[in-house]
Amino acid sequence: NTSLKEEDKEVYNIVENEKLRQWSGLELIASENFTSQAVIEANGTALTNKYSEGLPGARYYGGNEYIDELEILCQKRALAAFGLNAEQWGVNVQPYSGSTANFAALTALIQPQDRLMGLDLPSGGHLTHGYQTNKKKISSSSIYFQSMPYQVDASSGLINYKRLEENAALFRPKLLICGASAYPAEWEYDTMRKIADQHGAYLMCDMAHISGLIAGKEALSPFDYCDIVTTTTHKTLRGPRAGLIFFRRDKGDGLESRVNQAVFPSCQGGPHNNTIAAIAVALKQAGSPEFKQYAKQVCANAKKLAEVLTGYGYRLSTGSTVNHLVLWDLKPVGLTGSKVERICDMVHITINKNSIAGDKSAVTPGGVRLGSSALTSRSLKEDDFVKVAEFLHRTVDIAQKVQAACGSKLMKDFVAALDGNQDIAQLKKEV
Ligand code: PLP
Repeated sequence: NTSLKEEDKEVYNIVENEKLRQWSGLELIASENFTSQAVIEANGTALTNKYSEGLPGARYYGGNEYIDELEILCQKRALAAFGLNAEQWGVNVQPYSGSTANFAALTALIQPQDRLMGLDLPSGGHLTHGYQTNKKKISSSSIYFQSMPYQVDASSGLINYKRLEENAALFRPKLLICGASAYPAEWEYDTMRKIADQHGAYLMCDMAHISGLIAGKEALSPFDYCDIVTTTTHKTLRGPRAGLIFFRRDKGDGLESRVNQAVFPSCQGGPHNNTIAAIAVALKQAGSPEFKQYAKQVCANAKKLAEVLTGYGYRLSTGSTVNHLVLWDLKPVGLTGSKVERICDMVHITINKNSIAGDKSAVTPGGVRLGSSALTSRSLKEDDFVKVAEFLHRTVDIAQKVQAACGSKLMKDFVAALDGNQDIAQLKKEV
């Protein structure tokens, strides 16, 4: 029973270094957050020792009386966090992650080779919504199902619902998926429902990015329109890394048992009970007035960031944001997302490169994605985000100068040209 520090100094040091990295920089990755100490504690408990294949009251192993109690509590809290009534909705809290939740949902809803439509990855959709390129089926959701992604308009950055409706009329999907990884606008769930109904298709929402905002009532709820709603628990919801699947139980189409079967035994084995405990803690927090205030601040901070960046003259996809994320198009300033991600890393600002609608290549995306959820958890307010925007502006300004001086578009020449740059050293100190 020795501590990690005594037992394994190597792993302990790596963990401590990562903690320091997380806390000493500006974390702007839109899919990340800082969980509470209580969530981290629950995640590191003896519950990790237990096997509990099956559902509460129907397990394949003995000794599950406390695990049953925990899973039922987590289910109740999941429904409560989104204002759902247990007669209409049920939830499976066992998915290991958002990707496995999505694949289990597809397994429950449609048959192999059935047709689905989700938002294209270069338009801000997720891999698991049927991603494929012209040359290759990339995700299992396009390998095992027929996929025809829909897109956003390159000029507005917004989903073209009219074109989606026309393409759905040609493709006749069995499943329509809404939800995204990089979409700063609100969804028209009613329009999506209408299109799904034209083809007798299921409507699924993957609310992973905005589930915390939906719980905090800062984003529209998809539950009034969808048959199934999936989410990760570690983004704006601020829990541990995992997934949830909500399903309608009042439609008489057996969705409840199909989802539960799809999770186990079709796609997974034993649930990660330590994670389920941590999800339960996060869901309790998500129901609190403080969390509602948090969700509000997340949106206010992202809006301020968008406002200040556009004030500096930069171009954002959709021009602004209604949620936690900002999609920044760097093509007008002659930089790639990869170069800006790299230079930001040098000054302890963590962001990720991201495609912007209309990019020629998804391999060298023309923009970056910024998110306000993590820094809002560290209590930053709008004024602080003015400073964050200023740091970003200075970073991009240096990147432009270095790019212009080095006379090459190659990343290795760009990085070499940054070596010993005094402005970077100064900025790093300030951040
Ligand atoms: N769904 C969406 C919309 C996401 O953005 C992501 C991850 O970023 C996922 C699903 C996958 O989640 P995970 O990484 O937990 O598998």
